Amino acid sequence: MSLNIKRPNGTEDVLPKDVYKWHTVEKIARETAESFGFSEIRVPTFENTDLFLRSVGETTDVVQKEMYTVKAKETEFTLRPEGTAGTIRAMLQNGLLNDALPQRVYYILSCFRHERPQAGRLREFHQFGLEMAGSASPAADAEVISLAKTLLDRLGLRNIELYINSIGCPECRSKYQEALKAHFGVHEEELCDTCKERLVKNPMRLLDCKSPICREIGKDAPIITDYLCEECSGHFELLKKYLTGLNIDFKVNPRIVRGLDYYTKTVFEFVTTEIGAQGTVCGGGRYDGLIEQLGGKSVPALGFGMGLERLLLVMDKQGCDFIAPKKCDIYFATMGENALEKAIALSHELREFGYFAEFDLMGRGLKAQMKYANKIGAAFTAVIGDNELENGSVRLKDMEKGEEIEIALDEKFRNSFESIYFNKMMDSLEDGDVLAAFGTGKEND
Ligand code: ATP
Ligand code: MG
Repeated sequence: MSLNIKRPNGTEDVLPKDVYKWHTVEKIARETAESFGFSEIRVPTFENTDLFLRSVGETTDVVQKEMYTVKAKETEFTLRPEGTAGTIRAMLQNGLLNDALPQRVYYILSCFRHERPQAGRLREFHQFGLEMAGSASPAADAEVISLAKTLLDRLGLRNIELYINSIGCPECRSKYQEALKAHFGVHEEELCDTCKERLVKNPMRLLDCKSPICREIGKDAPIITDYLCEECSGHFELLKKYLTGLNIDFKVNPRIVRGLDYYTKTVFEFVTTEIGAQGTVCGGGRYDGLIEQLGGKSVPALGFGMGLERLLLVMDKQGCDFIAPKKCDIYFATMGENALEKAIALSHELREFGYFAEFDLMGRGLKAQMKYANKIGAAFTAVIGDNELENGSVRLKDMEKGEEIEIALDEKFRNSFESIYFNKMMDSLEDGDVLAAFGTGKEND
């Protein structure tokens, strides 16, 4: 009977055979963030709906069309569509901002948005993201962008363009909003229904519309960089200088306004053209007003979110290396109850010392056990039967070379195994195969 309940549209299963790819990205993301002074934070999967209305913004696509809102008893909650709102809420609620600034946190979490599923656009997806609170300096913007770039580089990604823009502060933006209203107002009748509303409530959102007609009208709209106040344009100039100093290539794209409402000054995106239309792998920026808006002090802050499914799509496309999953070091093939008991004890001891040991749990015959050992890529096998138990010795087989060495099946077994194992590693090193020796080589090794 086949299962007729399938996973919901726009969600994915990550199978054991593929999970090492996620582990690679997560490990390198953690190490990179920590090397920039960020610590991990973990926040709830759902929050009070109001939190997202007040931070992400009521006129955004996310809030208007994409939120998963659930009613439980009398209370309404929303599954987080992004990580910033919950993270800032947690920082405020737990008094993190009263501690030494800047506060730097990162997270790896799932996000939920009700969108039309397609390659690189899911309803449950995952983000690696981070937030830095306390610094208004453009050096902090450069730091956060440099972190994202470092991570992309360490993952081996190529041809990912960095676009930056400044969308100013509320002051310079109000003049710009007027200019946008004038521009789009002429075409009001042609705009999509959402944009008609945006024209009144939040004209900058017009530039983020995905409808082809609104996009066309937006093509020759005024650009924000012509409206920046002295403070905002000075900030932007310094950011560009720092990025140049770091040898980070970027392009200024005055059309980037970002999908969420809370941004001020710097916004940025890392984009690839290699995975189709959903090419933005990372988006972020500064949101100096958000913390105050959520009831905290006025604390400048910034951050980014990186879509892990999109990142993995590009890594696969570009043939990037992943950290290979650890393989079985030793497989005990057993014949009979006494041999099984011995294998249980030896495996336990070896695992205590960090080795990956396995034995048969399926009652297979010897031939089938050896076939299984081959299949899982065991480095060594040892066949234990009544003879071996009687003689007190066992033949350890190097599965790659086919060589066998006889070792005592007594309390020295682990020591003997360790020295043979060590020699094999040293041989691989001499062959120049350093990465394979330590199980950190390429996927195909
Ligand atoms: P897009 O313009 O592609 O809809 P966005 O502006 O809505 O992106 P953000 O809210 O900035 O995206 O989220 C940060 C990152 O999360 C994106 O750059 C992308 O990599 C990823 N992301 C966003 N929405 C999805 C989704 N539905 N499925 C997979 N990844 C997503
Ligand atoms: Mg979106």
